[in-house]
Amino acid sequence: MDALVGDILDPILSSPAFQLLKQLSILFFVVFTAALVFWTWRDAQRRGAMPWFWALVVLLFNLAGWAIYMVIRPPELKEDALERELEIRAREAELRHSPVCPACQNPVEPDYLICPTCMKKLKKPCISCERALKLDWGVCPYCKTKQ
Ligand SMILES: [Zn+2]
Ligand SMILES: [Zn+2]
Repeated sequence: MDALVGDILDPILSSPAFQLLKQLSILFFVVFTAALVFWTWRDAQRRGAMPWFWALVVLLFNLAGWAIYMVIRPPELKEDALERELEIRAREAELRHSPVCPACQNPVEPDYLICPTCMKKLKKPCISCERALKLDWGVCPYCKTKQ
């Protein structure tokens, strides 16, 4: 029986087609491992989770290492980080658009007459309606009174 199986298998195992298949599987395994290592490295980098360490783990343990990484990788997704970044940028833009004191750069309201932080004179009150006017305005735009 063994001899029969050997008779059938030996020509297959030593045939050029089988050798080629074996080499192709090795090549596939190498390419697959490289892709997996690269993917893990990039994913870990995106999440700020020791990319070189995880790439090495996947290189050594292959799918088992990758599975461990998938379980304990940081849960924050790229989309979440992007959303947070946009939020920060929006807040920065908001800060830029609100007026600041020209002397100390602290935020001030448009109708402040002096800066509450450094006491710099920012605006003057209209002599008639007492609204806040720019220091160089010669006439009040609200009540038309000359200053
Ligand atoms: Zn100030
Ligand atoms: Zn006025």
